[in-house]
Amino acid sequence: MKTTFTKIALSASIAVALVSPNAQAQEPIWDGNTVVLQSEKLNDNVFAVYPTNAAELGKKGGAAATSGGFIVGDKGVLMIETMLNQRLNKQAQDLIAAQTKKPIIYAVNTSAHGDHSYGNMYLPKGVKIIQHANTSAYIGAHFKADTDFMLQNFGKGRGIEQIKPTPADILVGTNSTVTIDLGNKKVDIMDFGFAQTGGDLMVWDAADKVMWTGNAIITNKPALPWLLDGHLIETLETFKKIYAFLPADARIVPGHGVVMGREDIKWHIDYLTTIKTQVADAIAQGLTLEQTVEKVKMPEYRGYVLFDWVHPKLNVPAAYKDLTKPAVK
Ligand SMILES: [Zn+2]
Repeated sequence: MKTTFTKIALSASIAVALVSPNAQAQEPIWDGNTVVLQSEKLNDNVFAVYPTNAAELGKKGGAAATSGGFIVGDKGVLMIETMLNQRLNKQAQDLIAAQTKKPIIYAVNTSAHGDHSYGNMYLPKGVKIIQHANTSAYIGAHFKADTDFMLQNFGKGRGIEQIKPTPADILVGTNSTVTIDLGNKKVDIMDFGFAQTGGDLMVWDAADKVMWTGNAIITNKPALPWLLDGHLIETLETFKKIYAFLPADARIVPGHGVVMGREDIKWHIDYLTTIKTQVADAIAQGLTLEQTVEKVKMPEYRGYVLFDWVHPKLNVPAAYKDLTKPAVK
């Protein structure tokens, strides 16, 4: 636990110290005051929730707001992601109310990121919040730094100033699964390993073959993973594990886009595999980090609007750090 905590504490400082995409610009990555959410029925009682412009933005490599969803069981509703602010949390709750009179009884935050968890404080009383144990520890120790980072990237006056942390009721540990019984339906809340923050949960509805991945999978091609906290190699292994776990006809609700298929994960796996190979070559040639960033340009992945941030500033350095780290056995 101590090790994990230290690692997470370190991650937070890295995230805040990074030159984030909009550090200079005042424009948010997306605007929590204007985003409109909609739901899509995936099966009886199973819904994805995503922004109305997510399909269009995703196709052109733009950045859409948070996706989530909900599953309605006999006992009540499990909500996935509580969104950035009161406005978006209310929209997500209203989309649930439009489908069922049953109460929300569980809410899952797939990570500590504010756009997935800040809405916790606006949930009805009695809703049980589910988080990864590392997410809970991170929020407990770094909430101020986290909201500062979010304000920088999502702007003032978007409801972030008002947010107070809401403690989780159910924690999922590393390499663990917690199964939630909704009466007629069981939902697995799973840790597959480090996927972006070290506190990453996947929500798996086995009966309907639907998985919510949170930010680990941002969205379809041409979007790319954001390795805000490093760990390219572990992330790649986690993606491969998820791919191997999913049945061929599984549907995926990513962190910031419309519903995808299992094969769509390959784009992300291929991207990370290519970085890993090219950075290993650069290291073998004795290049420094700066020289490696200069060399490993991978222009075939430039279609993503945030490429110039996530690729040279996050993902290549993460690979370089991982591959130059002394082996621990
Ligand atoms: Zn997100």
